[in-house]
Amino acid sequence: MAKKDDDSAETRLARLILALRGQGISDPGVLSAIETTPREVFTPDLFKERAFEDSALPIACGQTISQPFIVGLMTQALKVDKRDRVLEIGTGSGYQTTILSKLSRLVYTVERYRTLMREAEARFKALGLTNVITRFGDGGEGWPEQAPFDRIMVTAAASDEPKTLLSQLKPNGILVAPIGKGPVQSLKRYSGDGKGGFQIETLTDVRFVPLLDGVAKEL
Ligand code: SAH
Repeated sequence: MAKKDDDSAETRLARLILALRGQGISDPGVLSAIETTPREVFTPDLFKERAFEDSALPIACGQTISQPFIVGLMTQALKVDKRDRVLEIGTGSGYQTTILSKLSRLVYTVERYRTLMREAEARFKALGLTNVITRFGDGGEGWPEQAPFDRIMVTAAASDEPKTLLSQLKPNGILVAPIGKGPVQSLKRYSGDGKGGFQIETLTDVRFVPLLDGVAKEL
């Protein structure tokens, strides 16, 4: 067998997957979606070397691509099924979108920066994804024309319970979102009880950029 360079992309990816497993990401579908998504495609040139580190990294417009562990945790918590229609708020780089697209039927994703939206769309095209639908807009309003959704993932911190988004969830649906006003928020899972109510669980502390009102005026 050929000896592998310790720093090859393959080795780094394998190490990342091992680290995620060690931190409790055990869903084989989620691990496989992460394993088959080239994170370096989603990071700016300056940070490509660090694409397989388990850390959040800066992207354009002052935003961030989430830490792989948090992507794994949120995706696992969402319990996505191959038949699901998923709404994602905060496309950012499109990394989380791509992972969701591998586990579901359709992903609707909303971003308030045009630049990020365009760059993410180009990546989806290059990767040959055919089940991602994008929208430039204020994700706080959800996507009423396409509601209700089986699953909703919010990848920016909402200051309070996201009522509008919860109203666009199916009765037995699941929504995962960071909730809180400060630099550290609580990652919450809302599971519909089928009767209009929700079971709410707090999963862990997270640090997300805030969910802002309206679309960005700058590019
Ligand atoms: N999921 C992304 C991480 C995104 S960071 C990834 O994998 O790369 C959060 C993103 O949410 C940012 O791109 C930010 O611009 C976006 N965002 C913040 N408020 C928003 C809103 N109201 N509507 C849509 N997108 C929003």
